[in-house]
Amino acid sequence: MPASPIGQPITAMLGAGRPLVSIEFFPPKTPEGARQILDTAAKLAPYKPDFVSITYGAGGSTRERTLEYGLILRDRFGFEVMPHLTCVGHSRAELRAVLDRLRDAGFRNLMVLRGDPPKGETEFKPHPDGLRYANELVAFIRQYYPGFCLGVGGYPETHPEAPSSEDDLRHLKAKVDAGADFITTQLFFDNAAYFKFVQRCRTAGITVPIVPGIMPALSHAQVERFTTFCKASYPAKLVIKLSTLAGQDAAAEAVGVEWADAQIRELVQKKVPGLHLYIMNRASSALALFARLQKEGLLPAR
Ligand SMILES: Cc1cc2nc3c(=O)[nH]c(=O)nc-3n(C[C@H](O)[C@H](O)[C@H](O)COP(=O)(O)OP(=O)(O)OC[C@H]3O[C@@H](n4cnc5c(N)ncnc54)[C@H](O)[C@@H]3O)c2cc1C
Repeated sequence: MPASPIGQPITAMLGAGRPLVSIEFFPPKTPEGARQILDTAAKLAPYKPDFVSITYGAGGSTRERTLEYGLILRDRFGFEVMPHLTCVGHSRAELRAVLDRLRDAGFRNLMVLRGDPPKGETEFKPHPDGLRYANELVAFIRQYYPGFCLGVGGYPETHPEAPSSEDDLRHLKAKVDAGADFITTQLFFDNAAYFKFVQRCRTAGITVPIVPGIMPALSHAQVERFTTFCKASYPAKLVIKLSTLAGQDAAAEAVGVEWADAQIRELVQKKVPGLHLYIMNRASSALALFARLQKEGLLPAR
């Protein structure tokens, strides 16, 4: 199976007739973090995932590193890279400056988000000359940069700030109506939440591909932290498996891989358009899952 050429819109790749496999990186904050992302990228590159994404920080120098590491991941490791962009702390003029640089650097795909409030703040406050919601950023990009292929976030178990799941779905539809090409979901550990979400989206008239986001769990503490933060469910069966493994990192990681593998098998069987893996810049769980995906012909043989 040939790797996709660099610079293709993800919408074109989504027509491949098999689920796309993608992974998410975040820009490193420390020299140790920099070593880790480069090491992970080197280990995963031979598996040729269809694309990787790189998140956008809440502020400061980490934002520069989205572009810097986006270029490294693309030019040194050969990945198709989708940088993320958020509204947080940016005026419209600043957003245009960032978008100019992303376009001029040759990126074709963007993940467009409102963003979370910076550390220490609980409420999102838009810049006085900025944008309030992701649908506004989608519309802004569509107006000034029509060449980008745009993804947006979706929340199978409802965004934590939304007054209701119906409101959240309406807001998701607004992002798609503004011009988003596909949706990538927040992580979930219970596939039923994803399938129900897709059905609700289709009923609401959202027709774009909805790519499930899967995080191979690393420990009980990690899953508890993440599911509390994003208000995702933590299935009792997984709690039982992980909660007895405190301090046993390798055993907990193996449970995380087994759980993610079972999720992926069912998702593939039900013909999802893609699999987006939240790997926390770590190679080991991703390598185990990639080896299995390769066996099933979902990643090219090395
Ligand atoms: C795939 C994915 C990737 C992510 N990457 C990053 C990243 O790189 N950097 C980062 O900081 N965060 C990232 N996040 C987290 C994301 O920024 C947060 O979840 C954030 O709180 C919401 O972003 P959003 O784009 O979904 O916001 P929005 O779609 O704007 O929604 C935010 C809230 O406002 C409500 N809402 C939306 N539109 C309206 C409207 N018009 N009127 C009233 N209410 C409205 C929604 O229901 C929701 O409750 C990511 C999330 C996902 C799922």
